[in-house]
Amino acid sequence: MTTPAAVIPPQRVKDCARKHAYDFEAVRQDFPILRQIVHGRPLVYLDNAATAQKPRCVIEAERRLYEEYYANIHRGVHDLSMKCTEAYDAAREKVRRRLNAAQAEEIVFVRGATEAVNLVAGSYGRSRVGQDDEILISALEHHSNIVPWQMLCEEKGARLRVIPMFETGELDLDALDALLGPRTRLLAITHVSNALGTVIPVREIVARAHARNVPVLVDGAQAVPHAMIDVRDIGCDFYVFSGHKAYGPSGIGALYGRRELLEAMPPYQGGGNMILSVTFEKTIYNEVPYRFEAGTPNIAGAIALGAALDYVESLGLDRIIRHEDDLMSYATDSLSSVPDLRIVGTAREKIGVISFVLEDIHPHDIGTILDHEGVAIRSGHHCAQPVMQRLGLTATARASFGLYNTREDVDALVGGIQKVIEVFA
Ligand code: PLP
Repeated sequence: MTTPAAVIPPQRVKDCARKHAYDFEAVRQDFPILRQIVHGRPLVYLDNAATAQKPRCVIEAERRLYEEYYANIHRGVHDLSMKCTEAYDAAREKVRRRLNAAQAEEIVFVRGATEAVNLVAGSYGRSRVGQDDEILISALEHHSNIVPWQMLCEEKGARLRVIPMFETGELDLDALDALLGPRTRLLAITHVSNALGTVIPVREIVARAHARNVPVLVDGAQAVPHAMIDVRDIGCDFYVFSGHKAYGPSGIGALYGRRELLEAMPPYQGGGNMILSVTFEKTIYNEVPYRFEAGTPNIAGAIALGAALDYVESLGLDRIIRHEDDLMSYATDSLSSVPDLRIVGTAREKIGVISFVLEDIHPHDIGTILDHEGVAIRSGHHCAQPVMQRLGLTATARASFGLYNTREDVDALVGGIQKVIEVFA
């Protein structure tokens, strides 16, 4: 077998291992799309919570795979298949390291956070939830951590219960103990709210759920791009995220599951790769994690996600966190000084996201005018309609930050908002 270092072309290793002293010009140079001119203005990309842009080493990782060592994995004895398998397995190890999981076998490659939640609902949930049981979620969830549980509850005659939230966007954790009842079969909760940026104290919540023997799934889609994640310290049973929000490609993500839970779970989909043997009478399923990866997976996506994780590591996640912290404070102060602008979600701990509204101006109009200023933000319900309903809104404008954003980007946002106000004056 070749070593992973031999499999991954040397240039790619060098690209990804380059140490920036967090020099923005250098970091921004790594993202070719950021050089773009939009409506005659330099692009200011502030829609990172929807999806992040890709550094060149991620784009290159896919190109090199297809040009140099692409084949199907796990089934071939030929050179290319072995090289490709090794790179795919190395990517799994990178995800393990990023989440600090105990074993690579606890990492299942999926399409993204949505598929990971559906996998847990469809496999763990289907086999453990029955009539009159309860699934607990929070008022801050993205639709992808609501609808799969609703579907499961409908199928089984179970009940969905919800941890309420305050106007600030923080959860009412005093309600948690009363909601964790003898029929609660699972608690599924976000780590960071995509609509408001609230950071949820998942470690404390897991401890309280475990004290009642309730397993916990944490949706890390908005946490992985911005925070150090340690699934063993959090103590959760499942953790899910999407690669595309963490500078990797779309169509790839990961489910972390504690090994003993994964091993006890029935397969989610049937097909090739998830079996050890098949006869018409009986199929013996493969070991974890392969049991949950039926069919040919997103090989290129997994390998390029590995490159994205390498890239972030090369910049230093601690430096990224400090930088984004500064950006959030700067943006909060700057936006707070705009007359008639109200920040929606004022939790004490927030990362990545600032939602806001302007009196009498629809968020879609804000988004459209900002686009003409070259500033890309998102407006709408952010796939979190219950959050909007709770706050008496139908939509907000949302600016969300990534490792390449600067204080100048925030200034451009504020300048654009002044334009919006002028247009509607
Ligand atoms: N969970 C949260 C908190 C999200 O923000 C998102 C996407 O915005 C998802 C889950 C779903 O992610 P994906 O569409 O990549 O599966």
